[in-house]
Amino acid sequence: MIEQQLTVYNTLHRKKERFVPIHPGHAGMYVCGPTVYGDAHLGHARPAITFDILFRYLIHLGYKVRYVRNITDVGHLENDADSGEDKISKKARLEELEPMEVVQTYLNRYHTSMNALNILPPSIEPHASGHIIEQIQFIQQIMDHGFAYESNGSVYFDVEKYNRKYHYGKLSGRNIEDMLNATRQLDGQEEKRNGVDFALWKKASPEHIMRWPSPWSEGFPGWHLECSVMGTKYLGKEFDIHGGGMDLMFPHHECEIAQSVAALGKETVHYWMHNNMITINGQKMGKSLGNFITLDELFSGSHKLLTQAYSPMTIRFFILQAHYRSTLDFGNEALQASEKGLQRIDDALKKSDKIQPSETSGNAFVKEFRSKCYEAMNDDLNTPVVISHLFEAARIINTVASGNEKISSGDLNELKETFKLFFYDILGMKSDSSASGANNEAYGKAVDLLLNVRQEAKQRKDWVTSDYIRNQLTSIGFEIKDTKDGFEWKLNQ
Ligand code: ZN
Repeated sequence: MIEQQLTVYNTLHRKKERFVPIHPGHAGMYVCGPTVYGDAHLGHARPAITFDILFRYLIHLGYKVRYVRNITDVGHLENDADSGEDKISKKARLEELEPMEVVQTYLNRYHTSMNALNILPPSIEPHASGHIIEQIQFIQQIMDHGFAYESNGSVYFDVEKYNRKYHYGKLSGRNIEDMLNATRQLDGQEEKRNGVDFALWKKASPEHIMRWPSPWSEGFPGWHLECSVMGTKYLGKEFDIHGGGMDLMFPHHECEIAQSVAALGKETVHYWMHNNMITINGQKMGKSLGNFITLDELFSGSHKLLTQAYSPMTIRFFILQAHYRSTLDFGNEALQASEKGLQRIDDALKKSDKIQPSETSGNAFVKEFRSKCYEAMNDDLNTPVVISHLFEAARIINTVASGNEKISSGDLNELKETFKLFFYDILGMKSDSSASGANNEAYGKAVDLLLNVRQEAKQRKDWVTSDYIRNQLTSIGFEIKDTKDGFEWKLNQ
C-alpha cells in the first residue's frame, strides 16, 4: 500500500502539490531524452538522475510506473531553430555515416554512461523517427481544429490564434506580446504568418537526407511534436508527470502544451517537473567556452579542467547532494568533497556489519531516522536532506564502533536497514568497490583459467573444445587475441 504522501513542485502552477495519480496505484511519467548526435555530457546526467530518483521512489511507494523517455533522432535542428541543418544529419554528413548509424552509435554510448551512473532503464524508449505516421496524424488533428496552416509544403502552428482561445506562455510565464515584439526576422520565417509560430512539419530541402512522405511535402516533423505524440501514445491523453531540464521549458514544453491542447482539446500533463541547470566553475556549459565535459572524460579524468578522474558514483552522489531545482556548480574541489563524503558513507556501511549490539541504546536519532528520510523524499524529492541524515547515521555508526556509544540489536538493524534502503534502493547508489577489488580479481582469474584450458586443448589439437571456449566467450562480449606468449583478453562494454 502507498502510505507515504509525495509532494512535488509543479512548474505549471509554480507551487508544491500533493501527488495524486490519475489512476490509483499507477503512475505515468514522460521525460525528454537526448538528441543522440554526440557523447553524453553533464547536461544529460542531471535530468536522467533526477527522474531516476522519482522513478525509483514511485516504485518504492508501490506504484506501478510506466516511464517513457524518448530518443530524438530527427527534426532537432541546429540552435533549436525552425530552419537550418538537422543535428543528426549534420553529424552523419561530417562523419560520412548513415544518420541511423550516428543515432545507434551515440545511443549505445548514452546507455553505457547511464548504466555506469546506475540509472534504471525506462519502461519505453521510443524514437521520434519510429513515429512519423502518428506525428502526421497529430498534425492533421491540429489543422482540423484550425490551429495550424500549410505554407509552401511546411506546416506551422498558429500561436496567435491558439492564444486567443487558450494561453500560450502559461508554463514559462512568457507574454505573447513580448514574444511578438522580440521575434527577429530569421531565414525561413517568411513562410510563417508570425515570428512566434513554430514548425510542425518541414519540407525537406533537396540536400536534406532525412525525409518522409506526408500530405504536405516530403519532409520531416518539427522537434517539439514528437513529445506530444509519443507521450499521449504511450501514457494516454492525460497522464501524470512530464519532466525535463529547465532549458526545455521554453520553447519545447510550451509548444508541447499548445500542440496537445490544440489536437486533443485539453491539457495532457498534470505535473510538470523541471530540473535546474549545471554550471562549471560558475559558467554555463558550452562547446565554445571550452568547458564542455563529457561523462567519459569525467570518468577517465581526461579533460583539461579536471585534476583527476571521478567515479560514476561520485558524480551521482554529487548531483544528489543538491536539490534538483537548485543550480549546481561543478568544480574539482566540490567533486573531491563529494568523493570524500561518499567514502565516509561506504566506510560506515562496512563498519556497521561488524558492530556488536548491546542490551541498551543511547541514541534517539535511530528511532526517527526512517521517518526523517521519508519526510525529506516526500518533500519534493529533497535528496540533500536525505543525505544529511545518512551522514548523521554514519556518524553514529562510527561512534558506536569506537565504543563511545551503545546500540541495541533492534536499533542496529533498523539503522542498517534504513541506511541501505535509502542509500542503495532509493538514491540508487552502489558501492564502487564491489565492482572492483576482490570481485574483479576473482573474475579475471576465472577468465584466465578458461583461456588456459583452451590453450591446452589447442596444443593437443582438440579444436572442438578450443573453438567452443573462444566462441562462447566472444558471444558474452569478450575480445580474445592470441599472442606469441599466449593470449590477451578484454571485455567489450
Ligand atoms: Zn521533449
